[in-house]
Amino acid sequence: MGRHPLALCVYCGSNDNVPRSYLDLADDVGAGLATRGWSLVWGGSSAAMMGALARSARRGGARTVGVIPQGLVNLEKADPEADDLVVVNTMRERKREMDERADAFLALPGGLGTCEELFEIWTSRYLNMHQKPVVVLDPDDHYAGLLEWCRELAGRGFTSQAAIDALVVARTVDEALDACAPPPS
Ligand code: AMP
Repeated sequence: MGRHPLALCVYCGSNDNVPRSYLDLADDVGAGLATRGWSLVWGGSSAAMMGALARSARRGGARTVGVIPQGLVNLEKADPEADDLVVVNTMRERKREMDERADAFLALPGGLGTCEELFEIWTSRYLNMHQKPVVVLDPDDHYAGLLEWCRELAGRGFTSQAAIDALVVARTVDEALDACAPPPS
């Protein structure tokens, strides 16, 4: 591995109303990254999938670094147990901090915010602004419609196949984490 344990940025839903299976998925991802000796960079919330992810990562011994805008500290229940809680001023600063602190990016099922974060890191990857892995973990076709539409964009000439291929879509936690890991040197 490189200069430090891999720092994995995970984007996921922040809504409490989602089915239990998504909280379990977030839990499994936290455990899996901890088992690999990685650290977690996430949005710093203790609620919903975001909270399940961070608690599980810490239970496994992973360091958790949360990045949250001041304006969301109460709304998103900023995690008092985070090893490092970085409070920023804006959403844009949040994403920049998360980008800079992470070696790879993994999106779990989520809502509009998760999509927004995923699309920004995916587009900057295919524009060669960074070379870090960008992965979606989609065990149950949560993203199927969206991904299908994206693939059609390539067919209709709006984007390149290389841009589509810059996003790895995984079905299982292990497959997703493998795709986030640096290739063996
Ligand atoms: P959601 O998928 O809508 O539940 O949102 C997941 C997380 O993304 C939440 O912590 C939101 O605050 C965050 N989020 C929403 N929009 C943005 C944005 N423009 N930049 C950074 N994070 C965002």
